Amino acid sequence: MTMLSDGTRMIPLGDLGTAHARIQEELSEAINSVMASSAFVLGAEVEAFENEWASACGVGHGVGCGNGTDALELALWAVGVQAGDEVITVANTFAATGEAIVRCGAIPRFVDVTPDTLLMDLDAAEAAITPKTRAIVPVHLYGSCVDMPRLMAMARRHDLLVVEDSAQAHLATVGDRRAGSFGHAGSFSFYPGKNLGAIGDAGAVVTDDANIAGRLRRGRDHGRVGKYEHTIIGRNSRMDGIQGAVLRVKLRHLEDWTRRRREIASTYRGALAGIDGISAVSEPAGATGVYHLFVVEVDGREEFRAALAAQGVSTGIHYPIPLHRQEAFKSILSQPPSLPVTELAAERIVTLPLYAEMSEEDIAQVVSALATAGAARRVA
Ligand SMILES: *Cc1c(COP(=O)(O)O)cnc(C)c1O
Repeated sequence: MTMLSDGTRMIPLGDLGTAHARIQEELSEAINSVMASSAFVLGAEVEAFENEWASACGVGHGVGCGNGTDALELALWAVGVQAGDEVITVANTFAATGEAIVRCGAIPRFVDVTPDTLLMDLDAAEAAITPKTRAIVPVHLYGSCVDMPRLMAMARRHDLLVVEDSAQAHLATVGDRRAGSFGHAGSFSFYPGKNLGAIGDAGAVVTDDANIAGRLRRGRDHGRVGKYEHTIIGRNSRMDGIQGAVLRVKLRHLEDWTRRRREIASTYRGALAGIDGISAVSEPAGATGVYHLFVVEVDGREEFRAALAAQGVSTGIHYPIPLHRQEAFKSILSQPPSLPVTELAAERIVTLPLYAEMSEEDIAQVVSALATAGAARRVA
């Protein structure tokens, strides 16, 4: 662990080294078995993981692919989004959400978020529907689900397709159903830093629809049926055998890790209740978040981050530039939308360290740094 000059330990935003060291034997065994079988691309481990992941999500089919961005793009294509369609999503997300929509030939329509959760504002989404709207991509950002029962009712009313960007929401629930299981399909990323992470790039789509799953299997593997026949123009976005094997090992620990994340989040929330001027982003009513990221909002963000850094607490910003303000998307949007809640939040959000491997001492250090930073802000 990095130290400050006064010997204070610098708490990182994540600690994959410790996570992996704790299950090193299980991981080595899994990796060695793939080496022994030479099943490096797709294969038995990937297939087993696809089934285990689908069942963890409570759906019938899982299709592994190269990464979470491809997973979302393939899912949009597989459910039937076509060139020229409009797809409603949010700008408060990682660039991949918008990229996947554009790569399908569709046009992203960014709508605002609600001020308490920073997730899609469903009234704004409904107001953005036009005759060209084909799909909605809710993003379960930070590990908290959008109100999916309400979103699905709206989608049915307007005959829209729904693909859930669940890249940050492994095992998150609304009621008793999991992220990715509400829409026509749900995409996941297993980028190493995600709540369930591979040791390289990997992703998957889950769906209850066998036809969509079939299209995905062909789409990710050169449009292939059998070995030599190619029925559609596909691509190469397959999951590696080693990633499948590693993900199976880690999936066995995911519920424990998630429980720990929620415990830490609840400690932070308790501490923040007594500190003025630092407010945690809310968990939506009826949903159980998995805290991929613990995000707070403050005025004077740079001073706040500096105060935490001085006490050995790393912070991040997810995300400082909303997609409608990104150079890459400007040329695509005929007129840039006005998203006041998103824009204000982008200036105020700060991500605190939260990962399952944090020790009680680490957590106490973050809590005490928050209290000190909060007190300094009251005086200032
Ligand atoms: C990580 C992420 C993605 C993309 O996943 P990759 O595996 O990195 O391609 C998409 N959407 C969101 C919200 C993400 O956080």
